[in-house]
Amino acid sequence: MDNRDRIMRLREEMVLPRADFAELLTSMSKEDEEFLYAQARDVRESVYGKEVYIRGLIEFTNYCRKDCLYCGIRASNKDCDRYRLSKEQIMECAQIGYELGFRTFVLQGGEDMTFTDEEMCAIISGLRKGWPDCAITLSIGERERESYEAYFAAGANRFLLRHESVTPDHYAGLHGGKLSIDTRLKCLKDLKDIGFQTGCGIMVGSPGQTVEHLVNDLMFMKEFGPHMVGMGPFIPHARTPFRDKPAGSLEDTLHMLGIVRLMMPEVLLPATTALGTIIPTGRELGLLAGANVVMPNLSPKQFRSKYTLYNGKPATGEEAAESVDKLRAKVESTGYRVVTARGDHAGT
Ligand code: SAH
Repeated sequence: MDNRDRIMRLREEMVLPRADFAELLTSMSKEDEEFLYAQARDVRESVYGKEVYIRGLIEFTNYCRKDCLYCGIRASNKDCDRYRLSKEQIMECAQIGYELGFRTFVLQGGEDMTFTDEEMCAIISGLRKGWPDCAITLSIGERERESYEAYFAAGANRFLLRHESVTPDHYAGLHGGKLSIDTRLKCLKDLKDIGFQTGCGIMVGSPGQTVEHLVNDLMFMKEFGPHMVGMGPFIPHARTPFRDKPAGSLEDTLHMLGIVRLMMPEVLLPATTALGTIIPTGRELGLLAGANVVMPNLSPKQFRSKYTLYNGKPATGEEAAESVDKLRAKVESTGYRVVTARGDHAGT
């Protein structure tokens, strides 16, 4: 079987034997790549047409109790200038976003326990009441099942929690041996069970990652059946232990996007900010490889530079929600178009 056959088989059966995934990930020629992306676009268009969904990302706190080795807002980064937004500031972001055409708000932050369940529920209810036609997505890390239940009851619809790596050793290596993949996976299971549209995902090219790990992640995603998959390249941050590690590559990231689209035709798949950071046209290339979501930054401008997960993270231009017109033009250059819609998972 050559790679073209593998890609066609993946499209038809929506999975491949492990050895074929590994072969595909290691031996794709330029022609194979083009074929993969064309198949991925075809599948994406059969489900979502030409529509690209936009999400307004509100980075509401960069305080974090965790110490992930890759992340610039890790607890032990003493150079990180910490901030948190008030409920009122978050509501202002939503108001601005709504006027710009956003119908999904993503609340993302470090694991900041000063946002108690009560506080989180007040914020979620406020958004739910103020913008009843919008989806509310949370990306706030690991909490107890009861907490997740309370957020869902308060009106949150979706939850992003990248699993980062399903391979126990690799996961431990990314988190200083202190965190366990079991906890992460339990959270993901709880979230899906509660009824959230749930997103998992990985950084492509994270330190220590092998092709075998990527195959494990693909197999895990296939089994878990997420509604969303977040995948961007790893990018080093100067104030972390991974400062000298190389960034993930454009090609590897695009391969993974194309494969995930074929494996899960209905998945909501962002062309991430990290992809747009390693190369200026990364976003567009992501869309052309099967992605169908973009998440510009809706945080108040004065805080954007402080939410630095990795170096070089842009906060202006088409990354900025207020420049959504620029983003629209860039998206249109790919033949797709940004729509004002909640953009729920097609199977939901
Ligand atoms: N605290 C939340 C949100 C984390 S930030 C949580 O734990 O889910 C969102 C994602 O950014 C992370 O899941 C991680 O995959 C990604 N990220 C963090 N540091 C990064 C880096 N250096 N390069 C690329 N992506 C990174």
